[in-house]
Amino acid sequence: MLGLGAARALAESTVPLTVAPTPAWPAPGAPLSVARVRFPEGFGKRRIYLDAGHGAQGNTGNKSVTCEDEEAFTLRIAEDLARRLEATGHFQVRISRKPGERVPYPSRINAARKWNAHVLLSLHSDARGMAMPWEPAPGQQCYRQDTSPGFSVLWSEEAEVPLQNRRAGLARAIARHLGQAGFRHYDGMDYTGLYAADSAQAGVFVSRVSEPTHRRIFVLRRPTFPSVIIETHHALDFEEAARWREERTLEAFAAAVAQGLVDALAPAAASAANATARP
Ligand SMILES: [Zn+2]
Repeated sequence: MLGLGAARALAESTVPLTVAPTPAWPAPGAPLSVARVRFPEGFGKRRIYLDAGHGAQGNTGNKSVTCEDEEAFTLRIAEDLARRLEATGHFQVRISRKPGERVPYPSRINAARKWNAHVLLSLHSDARGMAMPWEPAPGQQCYRQDTSPGFSVLWSEEAEVPLQNRRAGLARAIARHLGQAGFRHYDGMDYTGLYAADSAQAGVFVSRVSEPTHRRIFVLRRPTFPSVIIETHHALDFEEAARWREERTLEAFAAAVAQGLVDALAPAAASAANATARP
């Protein structure tokens, strides 16, 4: 039992006695911040080609923990991201396919090239690890695996050095801003042998010819303008899939991607802004 003085001291104390732990991504309520995107003077309007991953003939992608086809998820996310990027007034966006369309990958790259896209972002979700069968609703069966959440951003080394550098710069800028927004990055456990971790930025992985089971990914190696894949999250993770149904996730994601695009497309301006922002 506390004496009156001690009880009052506790009551008046500005330090809470028990601090509720901040939920960590992807738990419900995990904090995300929506950055205010800063556009340097003269940034103008950049053309962003959004590839809604999969949706080609015989290629629907993974099936999420809620049994959603990856091709449906990527289209939903691409449409949302396009709307938000265009709302800034600094991006013109095209999406690689419309609902119900089956678009071959070479046609997408050609369309982006003919349009003179500054950048191609290919949106995907990942399916990782050893998953267990799971019934999200009676009669529905898909798979679940809750131990490897997080985003990743991929780029390919298969190019001349200047293009390699532009790909790397884009991937790192996007991953950096996703991290700052509160998204958790994937540790890359299941990428061993497929992609190498990019030592410059957590959450970035490199498609490298020397990796033993290296995959040559068309959208990463073929475009002659910078292209990256964003694996937004782990589709089989119950909580992370739920977060990607939330408005604030989409809002924070779009702001992080937008700022990443600014940093990658106007690097000099971005570093100047960072320099003046420093105390
Ligand atoms: Zn995919």
